[in-house]
Amino acid sequence: MAGSPAAKPLSVEAASAQLLAAARTIEGSEQWPTLDCLGRVLAEPVISGTDLPGWDNSAMDGYALRAADLQAGGGWLPVSQRIAAGQCGTPLAPGTAARIFTGAPLPEGADSVVVQEVCEPEGDGVRINAEVAPGANIRRRGEELRAGTEVLAAGTRLGPQHLGLAAGVGAAQLRVYRRLRVAVFASGDELAMPGEPLEPGQIYNSNRFLFRALLQGLGCEPIDLGIVKDDREATLAALGTAAEQADLVMASGGVSVGEEDHVRPAVEQLGHLDLWRVAMKPGKPFAFGHIGETPFIGSPGNPVSLFVTFCLFARPFIERMQGVSAAKLPTPLMLPSGFALTKPAKRRDYQRARLEFDGAGQASIQRFHSSSSAALSSLTWANGLVVIPPGETIAIGDPVAFLPFAGLVPGDRGL
Ligand code: AMP
Ligand code: MG
Repeated sequence: MAGSPAAKPLSVEAASAQLLAAARTIEGSEQWPTLDCLGRVLAEPVISGTDLPGWDNSAMDGYALRAADLQAGGGWLPVSQRIAAGQCGTPLAPGTAARIFTGAPLPEGADSVVVQEVCEPEGDGVRINAEVAPGANIRRRGEELRAGTEVLAAGTRLGPQHLGLAAGVGAAQLRVYRRLRVAVFASGDELAMPGEPLEPGQIYNSNRFLFRALLQGLGCEPIDLGIVKDDREATLAALGTAAEQADLVMASGGVSVGEEDHVRPAVEQLGHLDLWRVAMKPGKPFAFGHIGETPFIGSPGNPVSLFVTFCLFARPFIERMQGVSAAKLPTPLMLPSGFALTKPAKRRDYQRARLEFDGAGQASIQRFHSSSSAALSSLTWANGLVVIPPGETIAIGDPVAFLPFAGLVPGDRGL
């Protein structure tokens, strides 16, 4: 059975697949002004109400004309009108040019735009010092997309570019999934909050901050249950409350097999454990289960273990619950190692690493000097994780699998 200490740890892929298969997208969506939808997940596709562009228009500041009105090498044409963006001109009289600006509708009859850089005003006309190909510098009606096209699929997480496109096709409101409510607590008698005096043996509760920020980075609504003592009754009470209030319950600490580890047995008492222990480092005693219908994810207490298991397993699970269609384990980049590894790892090891570039722009992967899963400073040093397969040595220059924090860590601002 999943919770038994004798059960063999699952591979990362098997654990991830099991979690994703169990994730159910939440019911319930709401309509919001497009302006307020950053980070939300579309519950319905966005269909364009218009051709884009809506009409033939100029791609440059210059002159609209008929290419056949010029000779080879250019010529002179009288300027018969001026059309700025937001204005509509009149049909272009044959043998004349229209002064035109980027985004302005092309006047009827014109077939090309010549850029102003090759033109000189001369008298009441313009001298054009270049050959003009018919069709030059025109953005055609519908060349990007046609009215009725699905421009954004349901299940898209809305970034700035998606909001810009939704606005560009005229969508004032969007239907998005409601926010996922995630209840979190950190278990441990040794935990104190920053601002409180540290008693002997106490440490500060980093995980509360990690949880809150990671969940906010995913657009969830955290329900913060604070610190829960290493005590069976307190743990049962916290889990029971959490499962009633939230779509998902997450906890850190207390999922190993020690006498002070109450979270795992409490989940088994209230519900059941579906998965426990993954063949990886850090993060081996990772737990997944259900309390009634509510899923539960339990991470080891060490902050780096929490961070790594959150990003690898909890993130795609949460994304799928949020309705994101592209939720999956991240795909690593293969890059040359800047370090040597002579002592092979026993389990697949996710070490803190940094993508660096030398003066010639050549990339290499460096790793943090310690692999302690308590060392949060390794995560602020790193900009990704290097995946070390078990039983292998690595020489400098060997390709290694690198997972950049961008794309792995919710809210990360890139390399
Ligand atoms: P546990 O998984 O409960 O056995 O905890 C493993 C290690 O992580 C212990 O050294 C704990 O003191 C530490 N730890 C547990 N919870 C937290 C937390 N919320 N913040 C920082 N460290 C923690
Ligand atoms: Mg503990």
